[in-house]
Amino acid sequence: MAEMHDAMLWEPLEEQAVRCELCGHRCVIKPGNYGVCRVRQNVGGKLKSLNYSAVVALNVDPIEKKPLFHFLPGTRSLSIAAPGCNFQCGFCQNWQISQSPRNGRGIAGKAVSPQQLVTAAINYDCASMSFTYTEPTVFFELSYDTAKLAHERGIKSCFVSNGFMTPKAVETIAPYLDAINVDLKAFRDETYRRVMKARLEPVLEALKALVAAGVWVEVTTLVVPELNDSPEELGDIAKFIAGELGPGVPWHVSRFHADYKMTDRRSTPIETLEMAGRIGAQAGLKYIYCGNVPGHADERTRCPSCGHKDFT
Ligand code: SF4
Repeated sequence: MAEMHDAMLWEPLEEQAVRCELCGHRCVIKPGNYGVCRVRQNVGGKLKSLNYSAVVALNVDPIEKKPLFHFLPGTRSLSIAAPGCNFQCGFCQNWQISQSPRNGRGIAGKAVSPQQLVTAAINYDCASMSFTYTEPTVFFELSYDTAKLAHERGIKSCFVSNGFMTPKAVETIAPYLDAINVDLKAFRDETYRRVMKARLEPVLEALKALVAAGVWVEVTTLVVPELNDSPEELGDIAKFIAGELGPGVPWHVSRFHADYKMTDRRSTPIETLEMAGRIGAQAGLKYIYCGNVPGHADERTRCPSCGHKDFT
């Protein structure tokens, strides 16, 4: 059975129900039940996190792998994941660990304390910690405690997130969060509802709040054939980033490969990614990168001041 930890950001309701305020689902959970993410449970009228002591991935990655291209380039980031996600994307590339609590495989992982994680980051010469691979919003307590401790030791913190965070979650983590890459997966609410089992608007609001809070933001869009690859939709994404977040916010347009439940379509043609690049440039974005295309000329770190490539 998963070890329990007191959850943050929830409120009690009548008859021992609780409302979780971490993500846009804002689940109302009756005693004994779980939230949509399946890693938060109402135990006797109190909300508990079930994945605080369940680290499932711990690696030293280049920061560019997040991808974060304009944040501490050329440095290492200690990358941490606990199981679970509040989305259910059929094209998830980390579904073995993101969907395991939902797929009946339980919440397995190792107990690694924030102190041990920060010590590991120091020992492995990491300039930052990254909460990544799964959704850090749903292992918020472990991320928060670790990021806070990391700051005290002079180490930065990053999220790689779907951005489905409440304003309260953004406000709570922002003082200890230095950078975030948000996966803006589409610009149609219908797609968010049907494919991700979520909604678009909270993601857009969280992105604006993160920029306003002074967190360094980069955006990734996995361009999936016949899902979000029309010039109109890519244009809407680019205009939102340039207009609402700022033209200096990097946009990573990333190549889809068949995975998990979405095996019915081909990989994204390189020409589509290059089209997205042109659309982004027309919208005024200064920094657009093609991702998941090894060797492509636009998959390298670029200095935001002089445009020089290849810091790594
Ligand atoms: S994190 Fe989101 S999905 Fe999980 S319980 Fe809270 S509101 Fe629901």
